[in-house]
Amino acid sequence: MLNIVLFGPPGAGKGTQSVKLVKKYKLVHLSTGDIFRQNMAQETELGLLAKEYMCKGNLVPDNVTINMLQAEVEKHPNAYGFIFDGFPRTIAQAESLDIFLNTKKTDVKLMLALEVSEEELVKRLLKRGEESGRADDADKEIIINRIKVYHEQTAVAAGYYAKQNKYFPINGVGSLEKIFNSLCKVMNRFI
Ligand code: AMP
Repeated sequence: MLNIVLFGPPGAGKGTQSVKLVKKYKLVHLSTGDIFRQNMAQETELGLLAKEYMCKGNLVPDNVTINMLQAEVEKHPNAYGFIFDGFPRTIAQAESLDIFLNTKKTDVKLMLALEVSEEELVKRLLKRGEESGRADDADKEIIINRIKVYHEQTAVAAGYYAKQNKYFPINGVGSLEKIFNSLCKVMNRFI
């Protein structure tokens, strides 16, 4: 299996690049943010719980997120591989993913990390807020909190994969095609 973590702060372009990567490499795209938003729209119990955290720009608790992610993986028993987009976001999530994938005799092959300056992130997210209607993109304070949460809780996950020689930083600024080509160059070393 080819399991990839697509990493980076909010607004780095993970969602956009995931769409292109899953098409090219025939992987299953699992975005925890998208799954939470679907649950919110359907007002499921999970959605209502996640909303409390998402609307402030905080992380949904690990146990809830980990259980949800594992259930989503189980829905695709014949997948060639997964792109995990927005997961893991904490060390506990990264550790649980390793243990879970090990039970399936597989692992995370690499973490592709999109790097974008903070100023550019805020600009992109505010623009996305106008276009997508996502509440957590429309408010500058929530955006700033999400970036703070990324630095305080999520950025450490990069070190977790770096220790395993699986961390690949990619410049996330430039044309979509240029960034995609940089991602593919690394991906192609693993297929
Ligand atoms: P995203 O669409 O990836 O920007 O995620 C939107 C929001 O969903 C985040 O700000 C968190 O509140 C929540 N979320 C998404 N993925 C995770 C995760 N792996 N752990 C905890 N919360 C998450």
